[in-house]
Amino acid sequence: MSNEEKKLRDMASNELKDLCPYCKQPVHSQAKKCHHCGEVLERYFKLEPALRKLMGYVGLATAILSLFYALREGYYYIQERQERRPTFNAYIAAGEHFLKFDNLEYAEMVLQQAISINPNDLKLRLRYFNLRAHHLRTRDRGPS
Ligand SMILES: [Zn+2]
Repeated sequence: MSNEEKKLRDMASNELKDLCPYCKQPVHSQAKKCHHCGEVLERYFKLEPALRKLMGYVGLATAILSLFYALREGYYYIQERQERRPTFNAYIAAGEHFLKFDNLEYAEMVLQQAISINPNDLKLRLRYFNLRAHHLRTRDRGPS
């Protein structure tokens, strides 16, 4: 088989797609070293750091974007809470009002609404539980 024939046969094979840049012989597309002339096919070694750099940029961009989205979500969360503040205050005021008239059931109801707006308000939760305990006590003592 002539050299030319061998080259053609190699070219026909799927695994041998690339040409060595040094000797122009077909080489395996994944080869790191030419098996004809022994030259190191640097393309893969050159690609790697570039790829790593690119991945670094992608990672950084993703981090920045996710931080941005987190901030934006946080902003909307705060904004939404601020918009709900008048409602929250109204519930609290209504709660005080109902307590004044000893309407514990209604006071409980509005406090529950206030807690649903501001679930992290521990003082409010404590107050609600106190009220609820008081309510249950008075109800049990009530006429029956
Ligand atoms: Zn070569």
